Amino acid sequence: MENRVYNFAAGPSMLADDVLKRLKEELFNYNDTGMSVMEMSHRSKIYLEIYEKTKADLKKLMGINEDYEVFFMHGGATGVFASLPMNLLRNRADYIVTGNFSNKAAKEAMKYGQVNVIYDGKDNGYARIPDLKELFFDEDADYIHLCANNTIYGTEWKIFPDTGNIPLIADMSSDILSRKVNVSNFGMIYAGAQKNMGIAGLAVIIIKKDLIKDAMKITPSIMDYVLSQKNDSMLNTPATYPLYVLGKVLEWLDELGGIDEIEKRNIAKAKVLYDYLDSQSFYKPHAEKDSRSLMNVTFTTPDPELDALFASEATKQGMVNLKGHRLVGGIRASIYNAMPAEGVNKLVTFMDEFRKEHE
Ligand SMILES: *Cc1c(COP(=O)(O)O)cnc(C)c1O
Repeated sequence: MENRVYNFAAGPSMLADDVLKRLKEELFNYNDTGMSVMEMSHRSKIYLEIYEKTKADLKKLMGINEDYEVFFMHGGATGVFASLPMNLLRNRADYIVTGNFSNKAAKEAMKYGQVNVIYDGKDNGYARIPDLKELFFDEDADYIHLCANNTIYGTEWKIFPDTGNIPLIADMSSDILSRKVNVSNFGMIYAGAQKNMGIAGLAVIIIKKDLIKDAMKITPSIMDYVLSQKNDSMLNTPATYPLYVLGKVLEWLDELGGIDEIEKRNIAKAKVLYDYLDSQSFYKPHAEKDSRSLMNVTFTTPDPELDALFASEATKQGMVNLKGHRLVGGIRASIYNAMPAEGVNKLVTFMDEFRKEHE
């Protein structure tokens, strides 16, 4: 459709054509209101309907029960991992560092209290997720924080640790809505929207109600979960349009068959890429086999100049943003929910041609 490329960007990332079409249809005149959703008051009846439906659809799709609250925040995932310690850290917290964002989250928390980094994968180049046997939790920790999918390194937790009574908190920015997750196993889940939930400007928090208690005195009101709850995330103007886009993404996912169906598709898509990577020795996958991400597939060619050539040649064929993150180099194919199987198949065909030419 209309000269669209396959956009393998890690985030902001591609949206499904069907979602964009609906946004376009409603852009100038939403539901006979004569205005765009962008122009609406967040207190208007029509907008509140969008808001409530989006929240209800998210709860339904993810199976979020009444013990949990859903907040819509500004400031991205980075804003959330800053507000988190101000709200939940009372004595000390455990952080598991499996990549760049979990490291940033731990650093941020250190500003506000005692943080124990109970695992850091630096020594293995963040190529794997720790074995559950390697993790020892502080029985008195206020919470344990991890990053479910490491967007930059391409690793993903397959099984989450059972942390007993200690709330488990997960940054799911790059894998929320991509696979089934039992929300009840978590104290809190959060995500920036621009990977699998729509567009930048919005972050979502799913938090167990009994964790919402007095925040530190220094906490800005806009980051205070008690106030978020009291004001239903409308202490100030929420990210009205990104929230509406999330609603469209959720409708699209639901029509497709929900999380079960998208998970099947995501497994199949990732398999095509990983099977190809395992069938040859020109490209080297970064992540260890049992830690491989379904969302971000990272690998290198034998030489950084070839990595760059790979990305530029792919661009000419309508496959863009394949360059790896500046921290790790190489190549990264982000294949979020919106990436169709055709995009992945086309990439693998290109990879094999490129290999034959440069091996
Ligand atoms: C992208 C990303 C972030 C940062 O998100 P922002 O919304 O830009 O703050 C944090 N964690 C993970 C896992 C990410 O993929």
